[in-house]
Amino acid sequence: MKRHLNYLSIITVLIMTTGSLSAQNLDRKDVPEKFKWDNSILYKNADEWQKERTELEKKIDQLKLHQGKMGESAESFYATLRLFFDIYKNFYKLSDYSSRVADEDLRISANQSLNQQATILGTKLGEASSFISPEILKIEPEKIKKFFEEKKELKEFKFYVNDILRLREHTLNAREEEMLASAGLITSTPGEVYGIFDNAEKPNAKIKLSTGEEIELSSSAYTKYRTVPNRNDRELVMRSTFENYKKFQNTIGANLAGKVRADYFYAKNRKYNTVLEGSLNGNKIPVSVYENLLDQIHKNLPTLQRFLKLKAKMLGVDQLHYYDLYTPLVKSVDFKYSVEEGQNLLLDVFKPMGTEYVNTVKKSFDERWIDYSATNGKRSGAYSSGAQYDTHPYILMNWTDDYESVSTLAHELGHTMHSYFSNKHQTFVDAQYATFVAEIASTINETLLNDYMVKKVKTDQEKLYLLGTYLDLLRTTIFRQTSFAEFELELHKRIEKGEPLTGEEMSKIYYDIVKKYYGNDNGACVVDDYVAYEWAYIPHFVNYTYYVYQYSTSLIFATAFAEKIIKDGQPAVDKFYNILNGGSSDYPIELIKKAGIDPLSSEAFDLTMKKMNDVMDQMEKILGMNK
Ligand SMILES: [Zn+2]
Repeated sequence: MKRHLNYLSIITVLIMTTGSLSAQNLDRKDVPEKFKWDNSILYKNADEWQKERTELEKKIDQLKLHQGKMGESAESFYATLRLFFDIYKNFYKLSDYSSRVADEDLRISANQSLNQQATILGTKLGEASSFISPEILKIEPEKIKKFFEEKKELKEFKFYVNDILRLREHTLNAREEEMLASAGLITSTPGEVYGIFDNAEKPNAKIKLSTGEEIELSSSAYTKYRTVPNRNDRELVMRSTFENYKKFQNTIGANLAGKVRADYFYAKNRKYNTVLEGSLNGNKIPVSVYENLLDQIHKNLPTLQRFLKLKAKMLGVDQLHYYDLYTPLVKSVDFKYSVEEGQNLLLDVFKPMGTEYVNTVKKSFDERWIDYSATNGKRSGAYSSGAQYDTHPYILMNWTDDYESVSTLAHELGHTMHSYFSNKHQTFVDAQYATFVAEIASTINETLLNDYMVKKVKTDQEKLYLLGTYLDLLRTTIFRQTSFAEFELELHKRIEKGEPLTGEEMSKIYYDIVKKYYGNDNGACVVDDYVAYEWAYIPHFVNYTYYVYQYSTSLIFATAFAEKIIKDGQPAVDKFYNILNGGSSDYPIELIKKAGIDPLSSEAFDLTMKKMNDVMDQMEKILGMNK
């Protein structure tokens, strides 16, 4: 993800978590005020909002007049950036308000219209400001240096400007940039083809379960039925799904190879040696971070395989198979939490994060930053939005009185605290944090909650549930996502070396990786031959480029930071504030270093694997399995 330039992409500020919808029969007007967020601090009403929108529109027209003048003097260089960021700051406030109001009840068209007006304004702003980066690149570096010496106020934009200059050698001339941009019309095709084929035109396998239930195995039916308790059924569900993909492996493979070639087309034209280098360079992440992830995970595969053996014992099977992986280890337990109970629990859970953190969380409860209730027409799921700078972030929840609600709120509060502290400590220009660090604070909160609950619950059943769910999270997020990252790298390597790449070849590559991870050869988990076609079921490969590895690194860094915070207390918290307060004042790798972990070392991996082994020790003890 682009760090600065792409202000319209709100991925780092609005992070969605899918949540279940409760039975909605509550109307917003019947919800007590204390459970609703308070939007009125942004604008008193829609009229005030419209007034600001009109003003912003005028300012956008003014911005256009700056085109071609940035190189004239330090003064005009500054004036352009000042106006640009001032407009953006207000635009975020404007669109934050309209999105929040729209999400309260998606059926109210007047509110949807505000939202659309904000989107149109955003597009205008994007167009009007598109000259800025190319124009900065046209100015002689020496001249820019002089501007910064002459005009002290330019200091605020130093990181932003330097980041544009850093990418100079990978930025082409205007005509070439235009051609690359228009290639998007063609290079988006593989994603569209896969989407249509997989969701609409692919004939799905039809099977009959032992219960007599007949099902058609669409992607969503597959994710639902692979968890069924009857072992023969889940084997049938997985085998039928993947064997169905086998029939189309060469079609899906040719399409995916097309996408990988498109990635290479962009990388090569932007003068990168590999797609990996180009993808990571946006946030100045060294390629060695990716390589280190793969190396470290390979080294720690015995920990995954220990978990698989434990899973086999807990499921009561002699030999675990790949189709057993989605069966829950323990029956879920019924924790009940009202909003107030959840709030009080979290204030206790976050104590290791120190007084300032806990007080700010309390403030978010008292000052109504959060919209809790699931009401008719409200947007489903949960998110935190920290886009607007001057007041505070907002959280949307759909509270269902269960543990899932508490853990979702803990997660979103992590994003909110990260945004709040970054907004407080950085100028608007440097406040938005990068994807690479975006999930760390949120995941630390979930980890703290899990640790707290394990210590607090009374029955073994509850403890096993919490520990088992945690281990499943580590398997799917750290190990599975890294295996995907490895597959992605291998595909790109083949294309970059100019080797042919068919669907059949992809299945071989995929099968080898999965067998290695899951310990097929040492009996940890049998990976049946049809698992070779699983890659064709995963839409990420055709839709993203070198993105999924960040799921894995986020959880590894979060686990490591949480371990340090629990063990070392306040000194570790103080260091972690380098990330919380840091926004994008430095590159993500540097922020993580300042927070106390070297991303190129094995430290975070060692701490995470130790934690995973500790959790397994605890479970084995409860189960009386200790040797
Ligand atoms: Zn998140």
